[in-house]
Amino acid sequence: MAIAVPAWPQSSSPGVRSCMQSNRRADTRPEVLLRCALHREGWRFRKDLRLDLADGRVRPDIAFTKRKIAVFVDGCFWHACPAHFVPPKSNTDYWTAKIARNVERDRATNAVLAGAGWLVIRIWEHEDVSVASARIGLALS
Ligand SMILES: [Zn+2]
Repeated sequence: MAIAVPAWPQSSSPGVRSCMQSNRRADTRPEVLLRCALHREGWRFRKDLRLDLADGRVRPDIAFTKRKIAVFVDGCFWHACPAHFVPPKSNTDYWTAKIARNVERDRATNAVLAGAGWLVIRIWEHEDVSVASARIGLALS
């Protein structure tokens, strides 16, 4: 019997597996895992919802609109994770400036949301998904 290579990483339960398969491939994996974990725990939310707020326009990865809680899943490289970010050895100036701009944009996004009364929760992609979803659940309850 030929062993098929799974098209998607193994998940902890059939529910999570079908949840992950229903997401677009373009979604980053930590984000999909977190959405599935939250969904499994019964939380309902909007994904990639554009919010037009007083001070600007933002698009949280996960939004709990009634509770005004916005969640972002930040990639360790793109958002300069203090534990994992290492500037590339080539084109260092370019990357340093680019990542610094991302970090600046993150701060501006946080300010826009806070100004409109939203709570912002940022999750690093390296964070354990169950710990991250528990952190969000705590904020929601
Ligand atoms: Zn990290």
